[in-house]
Amino acid sequence: MDAIAIDETLFAQLDPPLLSGSGCAECGVVVFPAADRCPGCAGANVVRQALPGRGTVWTWTRQSFAPKPPFEAPASGFEPFVVGYVDLGAVLVESRIVGEVVIGDQVELCLLAVSDAEFSFAFEKVASERVAS
Ligand SMILES: [Zn+2]
Repeated sequence: MDAIAIDETLFAQLDPPLLSGSGCAECGVVVFPAADRCPGCAGANVVRQALPGRGTVWTWTRQSFAPKPPFEAPASGFEPFVVGYVDLGAVLVESRIVGEVVIGDQVELCLLAVSDAEFSFAFEKVASERVAS
């Protein structure tokens, strides 16, 4: 894709995409987006780490009206979308979710075009035949 990441610090890698969080070497708290200080113990001994590419839907809702700025609706007009929290084990990540899901569904990280020039991230449901038991 020719587009660029809306914020490259969100990603540890793009192919396949993985998010970049940070983990505290003192107390073990993991956060996303990555932070320079630990919100758990205020320590500065935090290490960047790639987060798992798969998780489960912790909860979700449908955004049925355009959010306040800085959100920009596409030129074609606002379309409702799903947002939720995805449980990646060590951390819950707030994210757009592509398609229909229910709580507990297994989802995987994907790239989401937000304009012709930029992409961000989302999670999408793992096709049932690809779910490991
Ligand atoms: Zn800490």
